[in-house]
Amino acid sequence: MNLVPRKWHLEGLVCGLRGHSVPAAGVSELRPQDAGLGVDLPDGRRLARCTRCDAWHEVTAPHPAASTDLGDLHALHVPRRGEELREALVMRIIAIDKAIHSILFALAAIALGIIELKLGGLHTFANRLLNSLNSSTTQPSSSSVTHWLHRLAGLRRSHLQPLLFGAVAYAVLEGVEAWGLWRERTWAEYLTVIATSALIPLEIYELSVRVTALKLVGLVVNVAIVAWLVWAKRLFGARGGRQRHDRPDPAVLFAAPGAAG
Ligand SMILES: [Zn+2]
Repeated sequence: MNLVPRKWHLEGLVCGLRGHSVPAAGVSELRPQDAGLGVDLPDGRRLARCTRCDAWHEVTAPHPAASTDLGDLHALHVPRRGEELREALVMRIIAIDKAIHSILFALAAIALGIIELKLGGLHTFANRLLNSLNSSTTQPSSSSVTHWLHRLAGLRRSHLQPLLFGAVAYAVLEGVEAWGLWRERTWAEYLTVIATSALIPLEIYELSVRVTALKLVGLVVNVAIVAWLVWAKRLFGARGGRQRHDRPDPAVLFAAPGAAG
């Protein structure tokens, strides 16, 4: 039972997925200094506060083998919350973006590999179609169909292999970035910033040739990823360099009412 109705917040969403973190539910005795985390009511019920979302819950009596009390409140484990939790969520979103890229590059590599294997047959097919189109018209056709058939007939392995190599390399690179970002590794943050930044000039050039909504969105997303990682993760010495989040002292965060300070 959630006794404190709260408007939507990220901590509540994470608790909905992972369950609440209620340390006061697991101890046999609540001391006066634990009143910010759990309270035993005169009627025998116990109310316990979630250390992630701050909601109070009515909990069942702890197991007889439960630990005696909450111990040193300064050393209490507190799940990620606030800014630290929001950062972790953004990292996961970037990791998913990179994983999708990795899958798309892998699919492109598979398609290029199949085209390379079937190149002889594709040449025969394109030439046969071009011949039949030319024999059925008195003037050479300039439609987009014949344009693409000419390109297919002229396609060589030397054209395909660099593309295939590039697609495989990017599938691996983006996959490694996704894995490292999901695991919140610092090397993955640097790798993502360097690899994503390296693509930005190419994306700008592509936009200068032809503007499409997809290219524009891709550029904006990549610039946002680089800017956010450098700023939020303090990479390359940004905002005074890397430092861990100042985790609040649990004894202060969950101080018993009237005992603050
Ligand atoms: Zn919770």
